[in-house]
Amino acid sequence: MLQPATHRTGTQQSPAEEAATLHEVLIDPSECNACSGCCDICPDIFEWDQDMGRPSLKRQYATHDEVREAISLCPRRCITVEGWTEEFY
Ligand code: SF4
Repeated sequence: MLQPATHRTGTQQSPAEEAATLHEVLIDPSECNACSGCCDICPDIFEWDQDMGRPSLKRQYATHDEVREAISLCPRRCITVEGWTEEFY
């Protein structure tokens, strides 16, 4: 069962547990260039906000696998997820 990372006990997780853990996703609007790539690549998590003219989050929490491609391809590196490190790229 998927659980937000905030519900973890602080113990080391196995790769399988880590893959199933939900982490908070954030977009830094000051860095985003509004290319909409994240919305195209990962429409389950990101959506285009017509009023704001930039992406917003459909879901605040996602697994690393769910956002891996969007994070990797974001040209401004402005998507952050708790626990994400450069080695995941
Ligand atoms: S891919 Fe990155 S730069 Fe492009 S809209 Fe999404 S958050 Fe902004």
